[in-house]
Amino acid sequence: MAIREVRTIGDEVLGKISKPVKEVNERTLQIIEDMFETMYHSEGVGLAAPQINKSIRLFVIDADPFQETYPEAKGFKKVFINPEIVEVSEEKWTFREGCLSLPDMNEDVERPSKITINYLDENFVEHEEEYDGICARVIQHEFDHLEGKVYVDRVAPMRKMMLKNKLRNISEGNVYVDYKMIFPAKRRR
Ligand code: ZN
Repeated sequence: MAIREVRTIGDEVLGKISKPVKEVNERTLQIIEDMFETMYHSEGVGLAAPQINKSIRLFVIDADPFQETYPEAKGFKKVFINPEIVEVSEEKWTFREGCLSLPDMNEDVERPSKITINYLDENFVEHEEEYDGICARVIQHEFDHLEGKVYVDRVAPMRKMMLKNKLRNISEGNVYVDYKMIFPAKRRR
């Protein structure tokens, strides 16, 4: 078990389209375990593999901390491998998102309120499930990471322009974080 360093916005790996997972082996299970540990350590509710520099289609979620406000989050702890969002609702919902790769900021993001997702679990068993509310929200946020996107890519262009300095400061490491992070501008090669 190990806590991994979380990659920050500006890091190449966060902009890449991740590759499908071919099998779940010892190493994959170790990555999954480390991802949960890293996520709990940094008090996140979801973590995608690219955030720890693994460009593979895998994310983990434990939305339990949301359960007081959103009852549907209770016990929602899962591993998603090679996920495909097969259906989204026309109805949208705006929610203030945050991300471990963008510390110290939150923005309103509009997304479909309901989704159907097809994925493999950690035993490589296929599932197709429907989610709404906070669960659908966290899933879509994490799924974006596999597509090389972060939530600020979904805010209005005007707003994104206003965030430019803030985002630069984050990628340069001029931000307070109490979990292990790696900043592209500070990284030693
Ligand atoms: Zn994120």
